[in-house]
Amino acid sequence: MEYDVVVVGAGPTGSMAAKYAAKAGARVLMIEEHAAIGQPVQCAGLISTRAFEGCEVPETLSRHAIRGANIHAPDGRILTVDGKRTMAYVIDRGELDQAMALEALKSGVASLVKTRFSGLRRQGSDVIIAALSQGEPIEIRTRVVIGADGLQSAVGRLAGLERVQTVLTCAQAEVYADVAHPDFVDLYLGQDVAPGFFAWVIPTRSGTVRIGLCSTQRSLDRLGPLIERLSPRYATSLLHFSAGGIPIGPPPCTAAAGTLIVGDAAGHVKPTSGGGIYPGTLCAKIAGTVAAEAAAQENASKDALMAYDTRWRSEIGRELETGLRIREGFNKLSDDDLNYIIRALDDEHTLDIISKYGDMDRPSIVLRKLLLSTKAPRLLKLIRPMIKLGIVKRGS
Ligand SMILES: Cc1cc2nc3c(=O)[nH]c(=O)nc-3n(C[C@H](O)[C@H](O)[C@H](O)COP(=O)(O)OP(=O)(O)OC[C@H]3O[C@@H](n4cnc5c(N)ncnc54)[C@H](O)[C@@H]3O)c2cc1C
Repeated sequence: MEYDVVVVGAGPTGSMAAKYAAKAGARVLMIEEHAAIGQPVQCAGLISTRAFEGCEVPETLSRHAIRGANIHAPDGRILTVDGKRTMAYVIDRGELDQAMALEALKSGVASLVKTRFSGLRRQGSDVIIAALSQGEPIEIRTRVVIGADGLQSAVGRLAGLERVQTVLTCAQAEVYADVAHPDFVDLYLGQDVAPGFFAWVIPTRSGTVRIGLCSTQRSLDRLGPLIERLSPRYATSLLHFSAGGIPIGPPPCTAAAGTLIVGDAAGHVKPTSGGGIYPGTLCAKIAGTVAAEAAAQENASKDALMAYDTRWRSEIGRELETGLRIREGFNKLSDDDLNYIIRALDDEHTLDIISKYGDMDRPSIVLRKLLLSTKAPRLLKLIRPMIKLGIVKRGS
């Protein structure tokens, strides 16, 4: 078997990279280890309206509109942020992955399921990929392999690329629930609930909620108590359970001779929310395009493929770095600090700014607007501790 580009993994970033490589004229094969693309689901399915558009799936894909969030401080105070318009959608990840793979196939991509990548070696300027397809060993010759194979990326490891900086653990359950405000998500902060990150309750269009948490410590053990605390009724209305990891912080380099990594494999995840679909698909478009260009020019050297690394960093590298700083600062906050911040944000003018400039994909925009606001004096008190924690730089 011989292809210009082989994409390992048919998650959202694999399908997008494969589609863009095919659209740029490459002969592309996408391989997926599972028998069904999109399964098993390990995702809350909350994406911004911009991310939804970026996935380039038909408008008819089922989705549920979200306009705001209730943020629960450790002391129980609730800060309601109302975007007053559709800010995000809750999608079904299984359906999204299937739809994105279908778009890739329509662009001419070939695919194999139940085909597990197991190794790669360089032969001249080509890469020879070893895989187990439906139990049979196969070899595929290609110019460029794109590792869209998730958090554990075997492609990245075997190409000698460094791993992502940190991994957070997550656990989630989907339960039947009668929700009063199905267009708001609930986010819970605090050491008891989700140390170092947050917990969520996300309503879906089918009358269920996804209850989950991501944290730096024992997320799996914390899910049961969280569900019980929210409502004992939830504990006996379980439909689905999943656990997984979220990579935070890209490695120093995402290209090697004949190889690129993208999506979770490359830490393309927003450090403030754990959302990977927006940054992953954005970078996947660049990965597919650069891989096809390299194959056409018969030059898949590391130098040629570094165009990908440079381009994605210039698109979202700064936003990911700001997100990392916010996250590291957030990690140092005690419950008292969180209570104080939620209280400081809870005023009409501040909430107006958040509602107007809040952007799930680019949190630095609203942070800058808040810090520059002179009409919200309570916020001024936050500036010094934020500089101390490294969340904002002096003079920014
Ligand atoms: C609990 C949880 C909730 C989340 N909620 C959200 C959310 O609400 N919004 C959001 O934007 N993000 C969310 N994320 C993150 C998001 O799910 C990921 O960032 C996203 O799935 C990354 O896409 P990907 O294509 O890079 O990787 P993946 O979706 O992990 O896809 C990788 C694919 O590669 C395949 N693969 C792996 N190894 C091999 C191999 N050796 N051979 C062949 N195939 C292989 C896998 O089977 C898989 O299909 C969540 C994550 C978790 C864990």
